[in-house]
Amino acid sequence: MPETKSMTLDEIYNLAFSKLMEAGADKHNASILSNILRNAERDGSHSHGLFRLPAYLTGLKSGKIKGSARASITEVTPSFIRVDGGHGLAPTAHNVAIPALVDATKQTGVAIAAIHRCFHMAALWPEVEAIAENGLAAIACTNYMPAVAPAGASKAFFGTNPIAFAWPRPDKTPIVYDMATAAMALGDVQVAARDGKKVPLGTGLDNQGKPTTEPSAIVKGGVLLPFGGYKGSGLSMMVELLTAGLTGETFSDETKARDNADGGPPIGGQFLLAMSPEIIAIDDWQTHCDSFFERISGLPGQGVRLPGERRHKNRLSSAPRRINIDLLEKIASF
Ligand code: NDP
Repeated sequence: MPETKSMTLDEIYNLAFSKLMEAGADKHNASILSNILRNAERDGSHSHGLFRLPAYLTGLKSGKIKGSARASITEVTPSFIRVDGGHGLAPTAHNVAIPALVDATKQTGVAIAAIHRCFHMAALWPEVEAIAENGLAAIACTNYMPAVAPAGASKAFFGTNPIAFAWPRPDKTPIVYDMATAAMALGDVQVAARDGKKVPLGTGLDNQGKPTTEPSAIVKGGVLLPFGGYKGSGLSMMVELLTAGLTGETFSDETKARDNADGGPPIGGQFLLAMSPEIIAIDDWQTHCDSFFERISGLPGQGVRLPGERRHKNRLSSAPRRINIDLLEKIASF
């Protein structure tokens, strides 16, 4: 087992905040991002908590990421907002995009936000969950840099291209499904490599194009595979088209060509769609959906768990979290 240190959620926030400020972020940006990182550790999203901080610090220090960025919004039509991240970190753009998207959706029933010129959306659940907490259904996706070979190829071309979906449940936590279209998120493969664990066959290929269970062989010169063969590959292509074709940002392969290779996250596009069941559904959508979830949960078998439940259970504990010592040393070295 890797060595860990116990840290309270406040200590996690404070560590992220102080390192981000030292690396050149202003208070506004540092506090938004520290909140996201703390909440990821709180929910047990380990590949998108403090694990991501070194890359953000690298990007801030190299000047690629603007630590004083303020995102700006253009309401192109009543149901479409364009968000310019101003070369800042993605959560700063989401901070203004989500309230504007929620307002637009409550007026029109359906609205999208196309976000460009910002860095790394991290995990997608914070954004779709925030939209669902306003009584709306949401879909989000983002691309990255080439890490996944499309079905039939042995060379990386797609990002790990996550898709998230959230469904509102008044008086309950939303249903949140948030997954990479890669067989495994790159962050999780990196964490497995760091912790000396194997990954399932089908996760990726080594540098000879051979299937491997060694995460380090995938991370160093190998390639990830999409989940479910051509089906995941098709969804990954959809993500590329929504986040780059539609928003005007770069496709994952173009992003790599444009990146300064400092090790920090690349610039990219994000797509957010929100829908109002209150406006769209006929009859009592809440009762209808509640009974649907009850029927799923009551099915025979080992027990169905609703997506999002694991994180929401973790969230109830205010106990300190265990943070990897090597990671803390790496963060301290910045
Ligand atoms: P997982 O495979 O761990 O989980 C995918 C979804 O399935 C989650 O919503 C999870 O809910 C749910 N789930 C897991 N197990 C079960 C189960 N037994 N029954 C029902 N539901 C279940 O996620 P990934 O590894 O694919 O992705 C991890 C994170 O990485 C995501 O947050 C994603 O957004 C992020 N990511 C970000 C990228 C980027 O470029 N920004 C790229 C790729 C991934 P629960 O959370 O409750 O476990």
